[in-house]
Amino acid sequence: MQEKDHEPQMLTEAGDWRSRDLAVLWHPCTQMREHPDTLPLVPIERGEGAWLVGYDGRRYLDAVSSWWTNLFGHSEPRIAAAISRQAQTLEQVMLAGFSHAPAVRLAERLLAMAPRQPGRKPLAKVFYADNGSAGVEVALKMAFHYFHNRGEHRRTKFVALENGYHGETIGALAVGDIPLYRRVYAPLLSEALFAPSPDAYLALPGESAADCALRAADGLANLLDRHPGEICALIIEPRVQCAGGMRMHDPAYLARARQLCDAHGIFLIADEIAVGFGRTGPMFASQDSGVMPDLMCLSKGLTGGFLPLAAVLATQEIYDAFLDDSRERAFLHSHSYTGNPLACAAALATLDIFETDGVLARNRETAAKMAVLAAPFASHPHVADVRQAGMIVAFELSRDGRGRTPFPTAQKIGLKAYRAALARGVVLRPLGDVLYWMPPYCIDDAQLQLLAETTRSAIDEAVA
Ligand SMILES: *Cc1c(COP(=O)(O)O)cnc(C)c1O
Repeated sequence: MQEKDHEPQMLTEAGDWRSRDLAVLWHPCTQMREHPDTLPLVPIERGEGAWLVGYDGRRYLDAVSSWWTNLFGHSEPRIAAAISRQAQTLEQVMLAGFSHAPAVRLAERLLAMAPRQPGRKPLAKVFYADNGSAGVEVALKMAFHYFHNRGEHRRTKFVALENGYHGETIGALAVGDIPLYRRVYAPLLSEALFAPSPDAYLALPGESAADCALRAADGLANLLDRHPGEICALIIEPRVQCAGGMRMHDPAYLARARQLCDAHGIFLIADEIAVGFGRTGPMFASQDSGVMPDLMCLSKGLTGGFLPLAAVLATQEIYDAFLDDSRERAFLHSHSYTGNPLACAAALATLDIFETDGVLARNRETAAKMAVLAAPFASHPHVADVRQAGMIVAFELSRDGRGRTPFPTAQKIGLKAYRAALARGVVLRPLGDVLYWMPPYCIDDAQLQLLAETTRSAIDEAVA
């Protein structure tokens, strides 16, 4: 990738977009007070592979895959072409009463590749929504409505995990446990039950990750025992609680949770919105545990990072409980753009790339390189923990390294590291004081090297 020469007017254009933006836009997940003085706003003109390129010609390595959505790089030509072809044929038709090939083909392919488990009937139906949170709403409503249709009206509660995250809409927030996003809206949220997180960072001294996970599963078992006949489903993020600070847990947890859900006759909802599509190694993180969920939520990487789309995969048993002469027993949930053809075409092109490019095998090699580059951080005086699940590596920063004493929040270490990395041309958007690598799968050796060097400089500068 060669630096292009940029006309002087491009520089003014960057500044121009910055001020015009702040005059009219309200940004997501942002304290707007911080712009522009504490944090620069970065207008991006285009993307190329793992790079984002500003109007001033500055390049930024997208080490967080644009909020975990991008898989094969920005402006991937095959996905772009598929969207363009589809746009010239059929851009949108309502999916109630109508159908189209991209929605059908995508459902067929998702079901064919979905996790399976011996002795269980496979996932059999796909319901589309427009984004991850909407997909979570769909899964929660389906689980509740299933029991309602069966006459089990007392089953109104959901179990979720401490430190979990499932999105920002009111229903999804209710099963989330991250105070920063949840606390202020708590009076609006329906009550959920929270089971201990299997997070391996919380392991007791001498306890293995698997033992820690099984101890958390005992806590789940106790919780389920205390609420017989009241719960519809357990919702969990398999393997990695991403928004909760890239906290990782042993696959033994999901296997045990599956057994407990079966024993209590409740559904297991796997929220694979962030970890699906090869992020942790296998195509779906549930596969690490040999587990098939009853409902599986997909979004983010589903379209390769091009368009918003979510898919909720459900069992035939769940689907069948909605079949009736009465419309009230039907699942009437809908979004105007349900199953949008452009988004489905992008998703189909994404699945093609998984097949033609041997993506999961290449990811294994890339993940091994990431492990080598991350290893030296384990002895850094301000790194408490280095952890990895496939294409995710996280660095937990602390005041005293392995002592794990957090930095005072007011020190804003994560924010400082973000700024330091950005100034060096790398997008490392931390979660609190956790820095992480979650790059597009196309990241190459030189970019990985830059990422590792910049991470070290960013930590050193932030703690200085
Ligand atoms: C991002 C995320 C969501 C929400 O998806 P949006 O598209 O941002 O609404 C839900 N669950 C998990 C695990 C996520 O990481």
